[in-house]
Amino acid sequence: MNKKNIERIAAERIEILIDNALREVKDNEKLSQSYANLALKIAMRVRIRMPYFMRQLFCRKCKQFIVPGIDSRVRIGRTRVKSIRITCMKCNHVYRKIIVNR
Ligand SMILES: [Zn+2]
Repeated sequence: MNKKNIERIAAERIEILIDNALREVKDNEKLSQSYANLALKIAMRVRIRMPYFMRQLFCRKCKQFIVPGIDSRVRIGRTRVKSIRITCMKCNHVYRKIIVNR
């Protein structure tokens, strides 16, 4: 198998895993977390970058799977530069994201 094929298959698996993780997050947090961890492991092993929306589901500090509204709190900043503040409820790490107007 060539590298492109491996990457394609890995990307598909990651997508399925994230999908499952999101589905299980309310009923079975442990299972959800293990799906997400597996997705992260695959991405690291194959060295592919997850799509933006998926990367946002992992805390930058503790690397845990955090779902907005469940494990993380999202607040809109009131500064001139539009930004959102994301608080990870697992490790309490707060980070900021600048929203770029298009
Ligand atoms: Zn965290």
